[in-house]
Amino acid sequence: MGVVVQKYGGSSVADAEGVKRVAQRIVDAKKAGNQVVVVVSAMGDTTDELIDLAEQVSPLPPGREMDMLLTAGERISMALLAMAVGNLGHEARSFTGSQAGVITDAAHGKAKIIDVTPGRIQTALDEGAIAIVAGFQGVSQTSKDITTLGRGGSDTTAVALAAALKADVCEIYSDVDGVFTADPRIVPTARKRDRISYEEMLEMAACGAKILHLRCVEYARRYDMPIHVRSSFSLKDGTWITDQRDGDETMEQAIIAGVAHDRSEAKITVVGVPDKVGEAARIFEALADAQINIDMIVQNISAADTNLTDISFTVPHADGQAAMAALTRIQDTVGFSSLQYDDQIGKVSLIGAGMRSHPGVTAKFFTSLAEAGVNISMISTSEIRISVVVDEAQVDDAVAATHKAFDLDADDVEAVVYGGTGR
Ligand code: ASP
Ligand code: MG
Repeated sequence: MGVVVQKYGGSSVADAEGVKRVAQRIVDAKKAGNQVVVVVSAMGDTTDELIDLAEQVSPLPPGREMDMLLTAGERISMALLAMAVGNLGHEARSFTGSQAGVITDAAHGKAKIIDVTPGRIQTALDEGAIAIVAGFQGVSQTSKDITTLGRGGSDTTAVALAAALKADVCEIYSDVDGVFTADPRIVPTARKRDRISYEEMLEMAACGAKILHLRCVEYARRYDMPIHVRSSFSLKDGTWITDQRDGDETMEQAIIAGVAHDRSEAKITVVGVPDKVGEAARIFEALADAQINIDMIVQNISAADTNLTDISFTVPHADGQAAMAALTRIQDTVGFSSLQYDDQIGKVSLIGAGMRSHPGVTAKFFTSLAEAGVNISMISTSEIRISVVVDEAQVDDAVAATHKAFDLDADDVEAVVYGGTGR
């Protein structure tokens, strides 16, 4: 008998009907002869609504209380789901993250999983029950307080539990049929990928593809846990995320896995930095001290007559003001002339493991952008990715043009977005 971990996102359990539909799927998996563990997110937009509520009573709610509040969302869905499964004649037991043995550090709102000790889940399975676990939460090893893993964290709960239980597969159910070559909301002819490698999925998640949480993919790769991303609204096979190096040798891997985009970053330019040893270090140390994650960096060649250079980089919108404040504090010591802040930017990334062995991908990417009239303001690359920063208003055009240039369009429209508000 195999162990299957299934994760259902908020849009799959948005209302009582959804809960009942998901319960039926869970029972079907059990009847097919599996031991079934389910990880569930909060219903619909519950998490957003709880955040709104917190902001109405306090401008800066303490992290501990915020986590206590938000974990309630998943408790509601886990209990309802257990009841609905019970109603279909199968025993289901719900567990909070803490009861399921999800041990984390103490960082409220962005806790990291340190260990998973799923003794109670194992017992439930051994006794023939279906275990239903609240996603996105755990308990701190040190403070003993309830923690959350960050928005979208239920995916990570599911993969972590699957790894700890040595499951055969971790199925992640959402409102789309799998991983597409671009966001179907922008490119209606986007094609569903049957398979994708961990490394490609990591790059896609890091570049704004919202289908999976980045940390869940990192976890899956570390434990070599196959993920099957699929829709809870259809019975279609979705996308398998696996270590393709061990895969079928005869299967030709696509050169390009897909095009991802991200509107969540802002660009900061430090103008007039003296071109001498140690200045860049000082700037990025100040940002590191303020716990700010930097993404792309570009440093211009200094003009010969001034010996001054400009350094631009991108940061998450949410960290923009903190970054500006940190830099303002070191303006006199570094001696730069001014700071510019631009949040009207977007990042478009082309991802594919086949880039390693196929020359000309960059040229084709940039040509397609030029033909679409899109100006590039920053570039960064990895072995299997090329990313550009463009004007935010041109993101959709850039994604569509790139998708077309690389022949990623499907013959028919296959992308169906079944539910969700996209909030
Ligand atoms: N309910 C949480 C959120 O909306 C966790 C999750 O859905 O994975 O972020
Ligand atoms: Mg969610």
